[in-house]
Amino acid sequence: MDQFYLDNAALYRTLVKALKPTPSPNTVDAATETTSPDMVVGARIRPLLGEDVAAGFPCAVFPRTGQKSVVDIHDLYNHPRGRPILKSFKYQVDSLFDSQTTTEEIYGNLVAKLVSFAWHGGIGTLFAYGQTGSGKTFTVNRLEQLVAGTLMDGTLEGQRKVYFTIIELAGSSAYDLLNSRKPISILEDSFGVTQLAGAEEHCAQGRAEVMDLIERASSFRQTAPTLKNGASSRSHGICRIRIKNLSADSEGMLYLVDLAGSEAARDVVAHGADRMRETRDINMSLSVLKDCIRGKVMADALELGGGPMSKQRKPHVPFRQSALTKVLKHVFDPASSRACKTVVIACINPSLGDVGPSKNTLRYAEMLRVVRPKTEEIQLVAVSPPTGANAPATDSKAMQGQLGLATRACSRNLSPNDAELPFKKRIRPGMVVSWFPAPEVCSVLGLLEEDVKLAVVLCPAGAVSKPVKDALGNLVNPEDDRHADSEDDSADGHARYLCALIVPGLMARAYELNLWRQTVIPLGMMEKEVILQYDSGTRYYYISA
Ligand code: ADP
Ligand code: MG
Repeated sequence: MDQFYLDNAALYRTLVKALKPTPSPNTVDAATETTSPDMVVGARIRPLLGEDVAAGFPCAVFPRTGQKSVVDIHDLYNHPRGRPILKSFKYQVDSLFDSQTTTEEIYGNLVAKLVSFAWHGGIGTLFAYGQTGSGKTFTVNRLEQLVAGTLMDGTLEGQRKVYFTIIELAGSSAYDLLNSRKPISILEDSFGVTQLAGAEEHCAQGRAEVMDLIERASSFRQTAPTLKNGASSRSHGICRIRIKNLSADSEGMLYLVDLAGSEAARDVVAHGADRMRETRDINMSLSVLKDCIRGKVMADALELGGGPMSKQRKPHVPFRQSALTKVLKHVFDPASSRACKTVVIACINPSLGDVGPSKNTLRYAEMLRVVRPKTEEIQLVAVSPPTGANAPATDSKAMQGQLGLATRACSRNLSPNDAELPFKKRIRPGMVVSWFPAPEVCSVLGLLEEDVKLAVVLCPAGAVSKPVKDALGNLVNPEDDRHADSEDDSADGHARYLCALIVPGLMARAYELNLWRQTVIPLGMMEKEVILQYDSGTRYYYISA
């Protein structure tokens, strides 16, 4: 792919230059949308570095002039008959920082608020998300220094004791970066509070000492930016600052999180099976993080709203699903009901060579922007289907592609013969089905009996290499049962499929995909294929008529 971009760099530049600025009429300006003020999604485009330029890659990421916080990415696609063509993708965030913006400006814009919020007893969290080499560590490191400066320079009102813990989380292992990377454990105490057992907490004595701590921790995480298999790109770096107000016996918290690189598993294939598994685990933890952030924003909206939505169930915040969100339990546990403010900075490498990962990063950022519903009745925005199962996902429809949920494409791609087949004969990954779980399965999965039960098929249960349990904890793919998905089995309904649940969202008739809630569904329990449409306005799926 890189070679294709390099070979066509001159053509790419010409095509981009010829583009006319065309603000699309149906674009919703960030300012007119109601997203939560406690959840801000920013994006930072780093400058093109000397090495990107030397490699011959042009810039592919452009903040849109005249439209606030909108960014365009122009990608180049091979055309089977003729020269390559340009395709453009548009993304909307809450705050966009171009390559000229300094970290100090980002601090003033987004992070200073978190600091004073935590100083007064709230929980402030900052995440930097993005592909390896996109500027996460560059950003978080400098922000840590600026935060520490503010906390230690005596300008904030009142007296506080400030404690620092800096850890690194790789899979389910954790290491203390303030104690020579000593392994520590993540445990839950009898009060349900997550403890970083064995981690040293440093009571900050002065500015110089804190700067030294931060420097020391970052030296343990430093790896060359070009090494996508470097340790820091495969682990989350978490700086936790506890701010204790002795006179009021209250405590604020600040978390600054430098997330693991979000590269797709296919980009690390060259590094072998272990590395791929690691990447899959990282991606799962980033997916759980997304669901937790969305769930938390929804839960807060319900709490405040009291409107028509408050009659509906509380959204589930799956913070127990990954080590990262367990460490951040304070932020996500709906039971803790502490006031939280969260900032996510999506970091972008603007080089054409990184255009794929940059699109993924901005898609992720868009998914975190939970647009609050204004009324209970939501008009379904027309969504044109992708033109084929392998069609590149375009901007907001991208979620379908990213989640393998090109449901429209599934039914469209049937050959005429396939279309005649009964639905149980053409089950395939990505297909959405309705199913009838037994009441005990409903209660295990936390589904309400009166709801429509939907799931997306991931793969035959026998195709999964690790043991898979069904909702009741029964092992479904023991070694001798690997080929249970043969023709005969599917005919008599004994085949079983690993599926992810699609559960009701907060609005009427809206659904969301919970990729992390997987269960095995026997063919016999499946009822029919269901076509879902994604609505970019509400970021939910709706059952297509
Ligand atoms: P990541 O942590 O996402 O893997 P890094 O923070 O290590 O990425 O950044 C990769 C490279 O880009 C580093 O050499 C870093 O100094 C440089 N860099 C990142 N952001 C900026 C920026 N805003 N301005 C200048 N250089 C940057
Ligand atoms: Mg890094």
